[in-house]
Amino acid sequence: MDLKSLIRDIPDFPKPGILFRDITTLLRDPDGLRYTVDVMADHFADASIDYVLGMESRGFIIGTPLAYKLGAGFIPVRKAGKLPSDVYSVEYALEYGTDRLEIHQDALHPASRVLIVDDLIATGGTAGATAQLVQQVGCEIAGFGFIIELTFLEGRKSLPSDVPIVTLVQY
Ligand code: IMP
Repeated sequence: MDLKSLIRDIPDFPKPGILFRDITTLLRDPDGLRYTVDVMADHFADASIDYVLGMESRGFIIGTPLAYKLGAGFIPVRKAGKLPSDVYSVEYALEYGTDRLEIHQDALHPASRVLIVDDLIATGGTAGATAQLVQQVGCEIAGFGFIIELTFLEGRKSLPSDVPIVTLVQY
């Protein structure tokens, strides 16, 4: 399936000079949504995934049906201050300033195998920070899955080199 034809390009969003890859048009397409989840699940079907971790907020959309399909649980990784119980947190660099991601302390245990998913990898800052959170708990990252990879930003270099990275569409 030609996923690119279902992804909409929005120039100058969220600020001038940025070409935003909008997946809402892919998500609203019944065949596109099913194909995206099914293909990603096929890649990790034999990876013994215990938990899928999705990053706020588009990682929740793709991560939950993927977890369901893999027979795994879903764990949200959220922006600072959103999770109600005790959290581990990690700070990471943005283009200007820093941001913080958090995960519930009791969500993972050291024996867990996790799959980290988001809609898109750009610089790899978000996924790299999530990997740090997971490694802080001591559990194993079984893979990374993204619908879209902006290859020219070389985000893969920010991720552990020995872990499979699956991306469905590249720009
Ligand atoms: P990174 O941390 O630089 O890899 O940026 C990835 C994060 O920014 C992900 O959580 C994406 O959802 C978001 N993001 C960056 N650019 C885009 C885009 O063009 N479309 C959708 N999300 C984007």
